[in-house]
Amino acid sequence: MIIICETKATEVQINALQEKIREAGLVAHRSDGVEHTVIGVVGDRNRLDVGVVSMMPGVRDVVIVSTPYKLASREFHPEDTVVRVGETTLVGGMDVAVMAGPCAVESVDQIEASAEFAAASGAQILRGGAFKPRSSPYSYQGLGLEALKLLRQAADKHGLAVVTEVMTIEQIDTISEYADLMQVGSRNMQNYPLLIALGHAGKPVLLKRGMSATIQEWLMSAEYILTEGNPDVILCERGIRTFETATRNTLDLSAVPVIKHMSHLPIVVDPSHGVGTRRFVAPMARAAVAAGADGIMIEIHPNPDKALSDGPQSLNFEEFGLLMNRCRIIATTIGRRLGKAK
Ligand code: PEP
Ligand code: MN
Repeated sequence: MIIICETKATEVQINALQEKIREAGLVAHRSDGVEHTVIGVVGDRNRLDVGVVSMMPGVRDVVIVSTPYKLASREFHPEDTVVRVGETTLVGGMDVAVMAGPCAVESVDQIEASAEFAAASGAQILRGGAFKPRSSPYSYQGLGLEALKLLRQAADKHGLAVVTEVMTIEQIDTISEYADLMQVGSRNMQNYPLLIALGHAGKPVLLKRGMSATIQEWLMSAEYILTEGNPDVILCERGIRTFETATRNTLDLSAVPVIKHMSHLPIVVDPSHGVGTRRFVAPMARAAVAAGADGIMIEIHPNPDKALSDGPQSLNFEEFGLLMNRCRIIATTIGRRLGKAK
């Protein structure tokens, strides 16, 4: 249930409403929009008499939300949510954020060169795996804590924020010391204890779509984080499993407008894992910006052929620079601003 307050509702009236909800044993989530304050009510709604609530002072409307996700729904929060990452980067609204970096941090030289080029090309967020969720236990697993330090150092030197994946609850404290944005990988999208813990981590979360998840299941996972009190969730489309084998996954770009319709949360697109092959990354990145994505996440490497993970889908610096120029033009054409302001 969502309670939409009158434009002129007073603080006393809003507090009384929240108190009424709590008395009924339900949880109230307040969201102050441009025009209205909206209160999302979570819990068994039979405990609250809709007739009584709609007659309370300051109430304009009571809407029963039919979707299982409530706080992630557009109805709860009609305006787009804009998430701040680090000190200066905004994801959502007018801005299209750029996250770039290697699949995994491999060495000081590799991450330093990547950060330098990413920043010079206008990216704002440095990516790089420290703890890697590899499909094979024999593949490169990442440098762990050492990688976090290298990422932070390179990012600070070039004025970038840091995004890196957190795989377990135990890693949250350490990773949040070094990262500005906590990535939940595709394989962990339905790791509910991890999502609940990230609801209390005090850092924004980049929630990748599970490789077999429907959009509704993905939004339900976002709901786990939101309902624990963390409003800063960014969704990331990274491709889903279909019968097609010509690409690593099938990048579901229709998820961009669909999510925009269903939810207020920002959505970014990761074409690198979506297609898995270098030559297909740039066209899909450009299409993602044209479709209205709030950001793109691109794997880049100083020498992709020597990369320890995901080399075949990583762009070299020249390819990335060209892609940035083209994406900037597309963003401007649709009235948005891509990457760092020049
Ligand atoms: C990644 O971004 O490093 C990654 C492992 O992606 P995904 O979880 O989408 O497979
Ligand atoms: Mn990768």
